Amino acid sequence: MRKRLIVSAASALSLFLAVPASASGFQSGAAGVGDSYYPTYGNGGYDVSHYDIRLKYQPATDELEGTTTILATATQDLSRFNLDFALNVSEVRVNGRVASFTTSGEQELEITPARPLLKGSQATVVVRYKGVPSTVKKYGFTAWLRTPDGAVAAGEPESAWWWFPSNDHPSDKATYDISVLVPDGNQVISNGVLAGTSSQAGWTRYSWRENKPQATYLATLAVGKFDVTKDTTPSGLPVYNAYSKDLGDNADAARASVERTGELVDWLSGYLGEYPFSSVGGYVPNVPTGFALETQTRIFYSPRQFAKGSNTSVVVHELAHQWYGDSVSLSRWSDIWLNEGFARYAQFLWSEHEDEGTAQELADYVYASHPADDPFWTIKPGDPGPDNQFSSAVYERGAVAVQALRNAVGDEKFFRILKGWPTERRYGNATIPEFQAYAEKISGQKLGDVLNTWLFTASKPAVGPVPPGTAASASLAPGADDSRPPVEPKSWKKIQETNSLHEAHN
Ligand SMILES: [Zn+2]
Repeated sequence: MRKRLIVSAASALSLFLAVPASASGFQSGAAGVGDSYYPTYGNGGYDVSHYDIRLKYQPATDELEGTTTILATATQDLSRFNLDFALNVSEVRVNGRVASFTTSGEQELEITPARPLLKGSQATVVVRYKGVPSTVKKYGFTAWLRTPDGAVAAGEPESAWWWFPSNDHPSDKATYDISVLVPDGNQVISNGVLAGTSSQAGWTRYSWRENKPQATYLATLAVGKFDVTKDTTPSGLPVYNAYSKDLGDNADAARASVERTGELVDWLSGYLGEYPFSSVGGYVPNVPTGFALETQTRIFYSPRQFAKGSNTSVVVHELAHQWYGDSVSLSRWSDIWLNEGFARYAQFLWSEHEDEGTAQELADYVYASHPADDPFWTIKPGDPGPDNQFSSAVYERGAVAVQALRNAVGDEKFFRILKGWPTERRYGNATIPEFQAYAEKISGQKLGDVLNTWLFTASKPAVGPVPPGTAASASLAPGADDSRPPVEPKSWKKIQETNSLHEAHN
């Protein structure tokens, strides 16, 4: 029998597939990747390597038509598998054959291929669909933001469901081709490099390519009327920025901030290592939201980030994510500190560079300005829970945790860790325990106590994030004279303005 399988694999396979999938060891892929915060997000049983997203969009009516082709590898014998998606699907093909499909839950698309997939085999999945994404609500909201002249897809963790079917979890990263047909006079902004445009019969196609692995929530799309600026950084990296023509009084402050992307990405490279992607930039659509998001290579900024004047701090935050979050991505959402603690800490370093308060002064200020009974201290940045994933405590206490780590290992080792980690784990995924192991290897120190104190304890640490033996330690230690109000660093208000980086969905 074994010999026959080897000699005549094709006939043996068809014989094998003739028996019912359930009896043959083929099983359904799980409806989630097993993330404790979002049990149904992502799916089991396969791994995506590439998304080819081909869309036609009509800004006047918000009608979206699409065909997404997914290249995947089965990681188990699969009789059925799921994608995450919210629009109406008209056809699914797997390896060229029409597949049956149904929907379940909020965003599950359950696909049964005509022929089961063997573990390790390649699958090409084609999904055709149509919808008006702004009208499709899941869990009570849509992440598809309408603008007066078009729309934007940006949200965390949910964003993909309204424009392409996916394995929607940061643990399954892939490369992307995103090609969108829009009426002439409109533009399309997306990730990576604009590989080409072509016009015919009143419609223009924009084709974008991100050639490095990208998490699904970091894929972005904007359609509208934009002023585009193109440049190259001093280090030779292409910069592509886009501003809605409709930003009103925020237009100049937006440009005075985002046009410094090239300078800031080069400055950050000094701390975080070589920039991991082949393009950089941001876009500012005319949306009413307040948040910004580190969408890969092309950062999304709400105009409200610039309502009080220029804000380079938010640009530094989102650019720092290109290393901490985009190149090195979360394996599970509970480890959000690996993204937000470090992006906020980059703002501390920028404040220091601008002479507006050192990282230590900012960390001291966070510690001193929240009394022990402030609910702020009940949120553990290392495991905040899904409801508090984007709480200010994750950012602020999370950045204090980074300063505490710096004080524990000393500047020389700290900056080696800060730069070495995204270099060693480039384009991959990671967890907090893996980061701790790396920091312990570089520093030669056990770091469990300091990380437990600042990341995993639901109360105010007894001692602030102070370097041992400094004078500051006496003035900020419990029992010292804390009736004296802490001195607010000059950069504080600007950093606070970036706190709506990820606002809760209504
Ligand atoms: Zn962030």
